[in-house]
Amino acid sequence: MTLPQNQSPAEFEYYVNATSIEEACRALGDGTGTILAGGSDLWVQKDEGVKTFGPRLINISRLEELAEISIGNDQVRLGARVTMTDILCNNELGKIAPGLAEAANRFASSQIRNVATIGGNFANASPAADAVIPLLCLDAEIELARLDGNAVATRSIPAVDFFTGPGKSVRAADELITAISFKPRDGKSLARFFKSGPRPALEISIVSLGIVADISDGKLSNVRIALGAVAPIPFRARKTEALIEGQKIDDNLIAAATDYLAEEISPIGDVRGSAWYRRHLARTYLQEALTNVA
Ligand SMILES: Cc1cc2nc3c(=O)[nH]c(=O)nc-3n(C[C@H](O)[C@H](O)[C@H](O)COP(=O)(O)OP(=O)(O)OC[C@H]3O[C@@H](n4cnc5c(N)ncnc54)[C@H](O)[C@@H]3O)c2cc1C
Repeated sequence: MTLPQNQSPAEFEYYVNATSIEEACRALGDGTGTILAGGSDLWVQKDEGVKTFGPRLINISRLEELAEISIGNDQVRLGARVTMTDILCNNELGKIAPGLAEAANRFASSQIRNVATIGGNFANASPAADAVIPLLCLDAEIELARLDGNAVATRSIPAVDFFTGPGKSVRAADELITAISFKPRDGKSLARFFKSGPRPALEISIVSLGIVADISDGKLSNVRIALGAVAPIPFRARKTEALIEGQKIDDNLIAAATDYLAEEISPIGDVRGSAWYRRHLARTYLQEALTNVA
């Protein structure tokens, strides 16, 4: 295999500045390469000894085709290299997906938002990944590419099926995430994102909650509720969604739904918050979202 040869830092065999998807996939080869996007997870993990690189570090930061946001009537497509700042600065996207804009707004600091990519947020597969939550609510699909012989082969999988455990996903080691796409919602929609933490940003979520639904006559339909940091993977609260679906939002339903959600999630307790506190936050966020509708 011929790789573009940039002189590598001593610890890596190759440092590739990929300029096309094919080149990045070729460099991933048999899966022994490591993709570098914004580096906001990767460098920290390397410094902490959590992550060791394969023989090739593949820098995709010059891959322009992964940096595009395209907004059509039927599909919104975010290239994997789209950053949180790109999301925040796109007013049209903010109107279509306000929950995603809110998640980007609550994400880290402006310095991190300038480099942190949407593809990296998915690929890192943290149970607390913020940008993932609103995209789960939008039934997003993940586009993946790999080299099959000499051609690039792609597949799409629902975001909800992407994660398999903390730091783990169905992405094969030789696959590059190329985009995250979703269908824009029609009509009047509820779309909120909540994130805990004593500061507005720069906090790993103790709990995050996203909700998207269509509103008509005080009833919610096509309800999607997703939560971060309450389970080993970003979590869709399908039982609570089903309870709310098509129902008139009143005090009784809000009480039942928040009780239901607290039962449905399985948070752990750690230094950032006890399991009780996480359940309490999840209930509070759902209560706030539903009370606003009521
Ligand atoms: C100070 C600080 C604050 C943070 N705050 C938040 C926060 O508020 N919310 C939050 O969710 N996260 C936060 N993070 C984590 C991090 O910023 C995000 O997860 C970010 O989205 C990662 O994107 P990246 O482009 O930097 O990924 P990188 O660090 O470049 O890569 C992360 C992982 O994904 C892989 N990867 C990246 N892109 C692709 C791709 N296209 N295809 C396949 N694999 C790929 C890499 O190989 C690596 O394993 C924070 C990190 C720091 C250091």
